Amino acid sequence: MVFEAPDFDNHELVLFGRDEATGLKAIIAVHDTALGPACGGCRMWPYATEAEAVSDVLRLSRGMSYKNAMAGLPLGGGKSVIIGDSRKDKSDDLFRAFGRVVDSLGGRYIAAEDVGITVADVHTMGQTTRHVAGLSKGDAASGDPSPFTAYGIYLGIKAAVRHKLGADSLKGLRVAVQGLGNVGSNLCRHLAEEGAVLLVSDIHADNVARIVDQYGATSVDPALIHAVEADVFAPCALGAILSERSLPQIKAKVVAGGANNQLATDSVGELVRQAGILYAPDYVINAGGIINVSAEVVQAYDRDAVMQSVERIPHTLTDIFRRADQESRATSAVADQMARERLAAARRPNLAQVAE
Ligand code: NAD
Repeated sequence: MVFEAPDFDNHELVLFGRDEATGLKAIIAVHDTALGPACGGCRMWPYATEAEAVSDVLRLSRGMSYKNAMAGLPLGGGKSVIIGDSRKDKSDDLFRAFGRVVDSLGGRYIAAEDVGITVADVHTMGQTTRHVAGLSKGDAASGDPSPFTAYGIYLGIKAAVRHKLGADSLKGLRVAVQGLGNVGSNLCRHLAEEGAVLLVSDIHADNVARIVDQYGATSVDPALIHAVEADVFAPCALGAILSERSLPQIKAKVVAGGANNQLATDSVGELVRQAGILYAPDYVINAGGIINVSAEVVQAYDRDAVMQSVERIPHTLTDIFRRADQESRATSAVADQMARERLAAARRPNLAQVAE
């Protein structure tokens, strides 16, 4: 079932965690620890099937390996999912039970926030394991990663707009933001501050109302947000928004947003290129949060160093865009190759050590 799954990519470990008393059903996937302990968020989502949850955690954890490698962090790639509705199924006991599952890996996986999981939830997990990050209290606490993620995405959108549209400012540009949670709402703040025209959607009306109210954004039907007339489409909800089906409907010339796994399959990257759309590879543009979390993991939180590292994201993206142009390849293919090369280099035995 897992070894044959289409999204299985020689993951080092996949762990299924169950706690009957709290109803916990969780899966942890550790993709690659060549660079360090696997670190990545925990997602709580009401998956329709177990297979969907397995596919998500496999793809997300591979994405974390690539993300951490591209951001130059001493961390491997891992991710976890809890099957459940974050608006209905949360309890402290559930998160403590999940913490015990994380703890059983002895630090090989470090959990943080992702869709449906708040800083408070991570603190509760931390009652049963010390292998959590993204905390708001404690010596090296780095807090909610989302503002850092959003800031990196904002800078990444500017780099993509400069490359594709030749514009130095977002003022007056139409940006369609899908998903107004932790990342999307923080991103809207940066975009509004620069004078972008915001078109927004979320499946929860209260989230939309808040952004419309705060920034004068225009609300768009969630089923149509990807297809709206816009200069930039910024997916900040769930994955697989770029597919053979959605692509012909997208009018924006730049797709750059925070959602993980935006490509439904790897091969869609080339179709995006052929459609004349510049795609900012998701795991490169959305690395700001893990950069912030990593500073907590290495026990040396330094906000200035974190910001400097986040501010390198647009430069990494511009390198990818240029290389993709030169080689007539998809930006996603170029980024994947760069990430895989970094992982392979980390796996190669150190020649000096071999000689000893
Ligand atoms: P969140 O749960 O706070 O927000 C997600 C939002 O998307 C919710 O408001 C939800 O209602 C909305 N949504 C879901 N399906 C939708 C749809 N079809 N159309 C419109 N809206 C929809 O999660 P988040 O932390 O903001 O994360 C958003 C995305 O960014 C995820 O893909 C996540 O993996 C990725 N990401 C987050 C971080 C971070 O720091 N939080 C870091 C890197 C990547």
